[in-house]
Amino acid sequence: MGSFEAFSSTLERVGGTSGKNEKVRILADYLRGLDEEDAERAARFATGRASQKGSADETQTGYSTIISVIGEVTGLTPRDISRTYVKCGDLGRVVEEVIPGKKETTLFSGELTLRDVADTFEGMTQSKGKGSTAMKRGYLKAALLRSTPVEAKYLVKILTKEMRIGLVDGLVVEALADAYGLERETVRDAYLLLGDIGLLARQARAGTLSEVRLQLMRPTNFMLAEPMQSAEEIASYFGRELYAEVKYDGVRAQLHKKGEAVRLFSRRLEEITESFPEVAEVARGFPGDMLLDGEIVPFMDGKPLAFQLLQRRLRRIEGFEEAQARAPVRYFLFDVLLLGGEDLYRRPLRERRKYLAEVAGATGLPLADSAPAKTSREIARLFRRSRSLGYEGLVLKDPESPYTPGKRGKSWVKLKEELDTLDVVIVGAELGHGKRAGRLSDYTFAVRDGDAFRVIGKAYSGLTDAEIEEMAVKIKAATVTDDGYYRTVRPELVIEVAFDSIQKSARHDSGYALRFPRIKNLRTDKTPDQADTLGRVKEVYESQKVRSEP
Ligand code: AMP
Repeated sequence: MGSFEAFSSTLERVGGTSGKNEKVRILADYLRGLDEEDAERAARFATGRASQKGSADETQTGYSTIISVIGEVTGLTPRDISRTYVKCGDLGRVVEEVIPGKKETTLFSGELTLRDVADTFEGMTQSKGKGSTAMKRGYLKAALLRSTPVEAKYLVKILTKEMRIGLVDGLVVEALADAYGLERETVRDAYLLLGDIGLLARQARAGTLSEVRLQLMRPTNFMLAEPMQSAEEIASYFGRELYAEVKYDGVRAQLHKKGEAVRLFSRRLEEITESFPEVAEVARGFPGDMLLDGEIVPFMDGKPLAFQLLQRRLRRIEGFEEAQARAPVRYFLFDVLLLGGEDLYRRPLRERRKYLAEVAGATGLPLADSAPAKTSREIARLFRRSRSLGYEGLVLKDPESPYTPGKRGKSWVKLKEELDTLDVVIVGAELGHGKRAGRLSDYTFAVRDGDAFRVIGKAYSGLTDAEIEEMAVKIKAATVTDDGYYRTVRPELVIEVAFDSIQKSARHDSGYALRFPRIKNLRTDKTPDQADTLGRVKEVYESQKVRSEP
C-alpha cells in the first residue's frame, strides 16, 4: 500500500531540483514501485488534483475553511495563519511550518496511505447540503491530525491546487513513460484522448494504453485551431478546398449522450450540463449514443448576442432563470467523434460531417454555418460575411483531417479581425482611478514562458461594472501579497486582450509590451496553462513587421 509519506517526500525532492530531466527521473523511480490504483492516485495528486477531471464534484473547500481547520489543529488563530500565508503565499508551506505544534493527538496513529488521502477527498466531495461544511472540516481535521508536517503540506497543496513544484502535466506524462518503459509519444497521445492524468497512469501501469479509446461520459481534450494572419497565408498554405466555418463567440462544449443521460463539458473539461439544460434536453431526444463537439452561443432573433451574457449561466448564481430568459442559447454543431458505438474521430472530417448532418437532422440542433473556400478571395469574402453577421471570423478546416484531441495543429486554422488577441494571465492588480477609484480594476498581465509567467502589459478598460466586481472577488481570493496599492496575484485568471500592435520594451520582463491593450473577454473557460506563450508574442511581433512593409 503506497504511503503518503513516500509520495510527499518524492514531491519534496521534485520541488527541490530545478532540472526537468531530474524531476522526471525522480518521479519515474517513485511511480515504478506503485500498483495501478496508487499510480492513479499519485499521478492525480502530483498535478494538484483531488478528483478525476470532468467529475462534477470537487472538494469545494475554500481557503477560509482550510485556515480555520489548521487553527483548530494547531491552536493558532486564523489571523496568525493568514498573516503567515500572506508572507509566504502558499498555504501548503504555512501548514508545514505550523503543524508540529499539533494540539490534539488521535487514536489512529497509523501511517497515512495514498488511499486514506483519496478517501478523505472523496468524503469531502460527498459532503453536501446542510451541515456539509462541518463534515468537510471533520475529514480534513482527521487527516491533518494523522499527518507529518510534509504530508500536511502536500495534502493542503492538493486541496488549494497550488502544487508549485514545477511539475506540469507534460513532465508527469514523461515520467509515466519512463517508469513503465513506454514511448513518450504513445503516452502523450493517450493522455490527450483520456483527458485525465490519473486514468492515464492507471492504464500505463497496467500496460493497456494501446486499448485506450474515447469513452462516453468521460470528457476528452478538444481539438484546437492555430491562428493565421491572412486569407492569403491560409490559401497558400493549404492550396486546396477547405471548409470555411463561422467562428462563433460562445462556450465550446462537448456533448456526451449515453442512453438517456446527457452531459456537457467545457474546454477545461468541467461539467456544465446544469448551465445549459435546454441543450441537454434537445440532445436527449436523439435515439442513439453520441459524442459531439460544438459551440454554445447566446442567440436571439436569428442573431448572436454578446458572449458575456453567458457568464451568469456558467456561474449558476442567483437569477439563473432570468439569465436563461435573457440569453437563450443555440448549440452549433461542428463535429462528431462517436456515434452509436462507432469511433469516428480518426476518420476524415469529410466523412464525419455526413454523420453530423444526420444528428442535426434528427435533433434539430443547428450545424455550424459552413461553406467551401479555396482561394484567398473566397476566404476573404466569407470572412467579411461572417463579420457582418456579427461573428468573430472564420475557422477553416481541412476536410481530410482526423479529429486530434488536444492538439493545436494546422488542420484547423482561425482567422480573426484584429491584429490578434492574446489570452493572458493576471499576475497583479491595482486600485483604479477616476470613475474606477477605490476598485480593483487595473490589471497587470503576463504570458507563459515555460513554467514562468512574463509580464507583457497592463489594462483597465473593457469590462462592465459587474465584471469588475466579479474579478475583484477572484483577485482577492488569489492575492499573494498586498502592499496597499499593488497586489501580487497568483496566476489563475485568464483574460483575452486585444491590442493595436506589439513593441519591444524594457519595461516588462517579457521584453515586449502591447500597445493600447483592451480587455475583450474574461476567459473563465481557460486555465493558465492554456494561455498564450512568449513564443506566440514573438510570432505576432514578427508578422506585424512583415505586414507593415509596403
Ligand atoms: P480561440 O478561442 O481564439 O483560441 O479560438 C478557438 C475557439 O473558437 C474554439 O475553441 C471554439 O470555442 C471557437 N469556435 C467557434 N466557432 C468554431 C468552429 N466553427 N469550429 C471550431 N471552433 C470554433
